[in-house]
Amino acid sequence: MQKQRSFQQDALHEFGKLYLIPTPIGNLEDMTYRAVRLLGEVDLLLAEDTRHTIKLLNHFGINTKMQSFHEHSNLHEIDNYIEKLQQGQSIGLVSDAGMPLINDPGHPLVTRVLDADIPVVSLPGANAALTALIASGLSAERFTYYGFFPRDKKEQQNILELIGNHDETALFYESPYRIKQAIQAVIKHLGQEREVVIARELTKSYEEYLRGQALELLTYLEENQLKGEIVLLIEGGGLKTLANFDHLTYKQHVELLMSSQGLIPKEAIKQVAKLRSVKKQEVYNAFHEL
Ligand code: SAM
Repeated sequence: MQKQRSFQQDALHEFGKLYLIPTPIGNLEDMTYRAVRLLGEVDLLLAEDTRHTIKLLNHFGINTKMQSFHEHSNLHEIDNYIEKLQQGQSIGLVSDAGMPLINDPGHPLVTRVLDADIPVVSLPGANAALTALIASGLSAERFTYYGFFPRDKKEQQNILELIGNHDETALFYESPYRIKQAIQAVIKHLGQEREVVIARELTKSYEEYLRGQALELLTYLEENQLKGEIVLLIEGGGLKTLANFDHLTYKQHVELLMSSQGLIPKEAIKQVAKLRSVKKQEVYNAFHEL
């Protein structure tokens, strides 16, 4: 066990601290007073992209020494930072936007600093996923953040089936160029009526939420190419209900798969036959009332 008392004098007090400092996801007013103060007070700032962070520092009139820190930063560099912290210097870590470590670099640094018994202090602040969640209209009671929407089809299927089996809102980051394919995958695995929200350009002047069923959003995307940064939120659960088909006639079951998963009759009949371990012909006859 490791006990960290971030702000009290104890055995760790002679060390500096590593501060994880969130930065705005589009609107400079979203810096907290504390984050601005610490950007100016730390001895060294580690930034994902110094050219990006310098604009933030200039805006607030801060000229703290800065070095670049990204996912390819090596252990040797991290050891140098540990040494500085052990000498009592304080270090701030920032990414280009939002919370460091949330789909941004920093985890190896944090673990190494903790291993060295040096305090790591996290500041609250801007984060795209949580900002989108609470205004999405989907349940914020239970949710899972998955990072970027997977590109691999098998991985998409695995994750979407997992989402369908859990009553938790799912949060993804996605690029505007792949959002249409992501919604198509949602329809394929969770049905066209699945509630989905696209939260775009949060905190910026073109901020926009598209809330609706997956098919409605797909229809919109067929005609509108989205731009900017996107959080995709998907309603969780529901697949178990779909799997509980004992109360349905074969005809109702086929119709349910057609409406919920967008299947053509032939495919739906095939699936129902498989799910209920009966001959396709039997389901076909029932569906066509022969
Ligand atoms: N660390 C960041 C955070 O705490 O939200 C996330 C960094 S991740 C590399 C960048 C992705 O976050 C973008 O591709 C986009 O999906 C999402 N994102 C960042 N800013 C956003 C914004 N203003 N509106 C919507 N999504 C945003």
